[in-house]
Amino acid sequence: MPYDRLDSHPLLKALGPEPLGNHFNAAYLASACAGRRTSLKAALLDQKIVAGLGNIYVCEALHRARLSPRRLAGTLATQDGRPTERTERLVTAIREVLRAAILAGGSSLRDHRRVDGELGYFQHNFRVYDREGSPCPTYRCRGTVQRMVQSARSTFFCPTCQR
Ligand code: ZN
Repeated sequence: MPYDRLDSHPLLKALGPEPLGNHFNAAYLASACAGRRTSLKAALLDQKIVAGLGNIYVCEALHRARLSPRRLAGTLATQDGRPTERTERLVTAIREVLRAAILAGGSSLRDHRRVDGELGYFQHNFRVYDREGSPCPTYRCRGTVQRMVQSARSTFFCPTCQR
């Protein structure tokens, strides 16, 4: 089936674009988040906004983009729904995290554990995930990685550099 027909299938239409695909970009993300009062963390875990982005990758991407997981998703868009510098930074960070995971041998973009129970070598590259109490790895940040629970999932973040 051609990609565009597949994309318009009613069951698949409910899913947002794949994060490494061409349809996922700052303009799209801004329009998908415009006006939303949910947290950025919840928005990125919402499969209708972006498909298959797991909890670990959302935590890691928000840290790289220096954006607070508590920030309102709507702040990714201007009043007329256009992307900001923040939105560009986040899209770049999501792509970087996923590419790093793939290079490290991650078998899946989701954070499901592999058959052998490991997350692959990428887990050694986590900057914040599962690192509560560690010094923040951001250059010149003297913050400490913290953990909180959002939508029943653990969020790891640095309150000093993630705004
Ligand atoms: Zn920090």
